[in-house]
Amino acid sequence: MATDIRLGFAGTVGNTPLIKIESLSAATGCNILGKAEFLNPGGSVKDRAALFMVMQAEQDGLLKPGGAIVEGTAGNTGIGLTLVANARGYRSIIVMPNNQSQEKIDLLRTFGAEVELVEPVPFANQNNYYHVARARAEQLDNAFWANQFENLANADAHYQTTGPEIWQQTGGDLDGVVMASGTGGTIGGVSSYLKEQKSEIAAYLIDPPGAAMYGYVNTGEVTKTEGSSITEGIGIGRVTANFARAKLDGAFRGTDQEVIEMSHFLLKHDGLFLGSSAALNAVGAMRLARKLGSGHTIATILCDGGGRYRSRMYNLDWLKEKDLVPVAKGLEFLD
Ligand code: PMP
Repeated sequence: MATDIRLGFAGTVGNTPLIKIESLSAATGCNILGKAEFLNPGGSVKDRAALFMVMQAEQDGLLKPGGAIVEGTAGNTGIGLTLVANARGYRSIIVMPNNQSQEKIDLLRTFGAEVELVEPVPFANQNNYYHVARARAEQLDNAFWANQFENLANADAHYQTTGPEIWQQTGGDLDGVVMASGTGGTIGGVSSYLKEQKSEIAAYLIDPPGAAMYGYVNTGEVTKTEGSSITEGIGIGRVTANFARAKLDGAFRGTDQEVIEMSHFLLKHDGLFLGSSAALNAVGAMRLARKLGSGHTIATILCDGGGRYRSRMYNLDWLKEKDLVPVAKGLEFLD
């Protein structure tokens, strides 16, 4: 008799493996664990939030048969939402800044999303993808704006699934958790759930250049750090409702050079083909391991895979153009 059949797209989201990253664990004397979110059916951690936001909207009567799901996204939430939309009979309309990887745009179009690309302007500008998505939803009948930044169904997904999975997979033998933030959904849900189970778990943010939550976590003030980052889908400049749920002990920073070195290192030494936010999270795990000392267990999130960035962080021409060609032999690039 069949015992392990998952029901469609929705049934395939989550329950991802927790991988002991052998190279990083050996280098630190810690257990460095990565939650393999790249194995979700849409290829990223955002499948969880997409599914929860749609189910909540259906329950609240905001999404009716034949309706449209509208969202502003760096791509991954749009990919998850489009697959959920296909599986449940909705249209999907995705507004994206035009500086995201071509692979994500191509995937969205292949999956049947109506994609609108906009200039990457600051949040305060009404032409920012966030505001354009809201406007598109308002212009349509029977449309639901997912609003992943402020919609708490996003953090709920991680409070109800990602956090409990990590807790169960480690048997509660967990000392630290660290990750970057795009909407704050993952860090909001995971850190609050884990702290409720065991308050001594050290929960840390890692922020890329140009983001403001490093300053916020350390000083309580929203202050942007210098520069910008090649990492897509993370680095916020404001405290979203989802980020506000996070329970954190501190924050780290990570550079683009570290992200590129780490992603190529993990590919070469561990066979892990990861996106840039996952590589930044691995940098964060190393910082936290050094802070806590050997013998500790630290979990992070491997948000998506490298396939959707092949033309960028795994393309030598692009790396040369950005002056980010990886050169490290080992982990000596870590600050
Ligand atoms: N990594 C990638 C590649 C993403 O697309 C996102 C979401 N934008 C994140 C990390 C961050 O996740 P969250 O929105 O839950 O903070």
